[in-house]
Amino acid sequence: MPIILISLIMPGKIKVIIDRNGCISCTTCWNLCPDFFEQNQKDAASQVVEKYRIENNPGEGEAPEKLEKMVRRAADLCPVQVIRISL
Ligand code: SF4
Repeated sequence: MPIILISLIMPGKIKVIIDRNGCISCTTCWNLCPDFFEQNQKDAASQVVEKYRIENNPGEGEAPEKLEKMVRRAADLCPVQVIRISL
């Protein structure tokens, strides 16, 4: 019986961590990518929108491939460099 190997190719996702304590609420990330970042109404710092959070942590999320470019751009432009990205 032939062995059939099935390869499941998952779309790429990137992990994003916001050091929310260091955020200065400059507005860049949520203006650039409002599908992924938003302003927390209580502390005014940036957070991941609920849909993309990991374990409901506002400081951690997983960005889908379609948002990767804009999320990376927001991280690059963050003036205090508190947005960290890993695979
Ligand atoms: S770009 Fe950086 S400093 Fe500006 S709101 Fe986003 S996380 Fe905060």
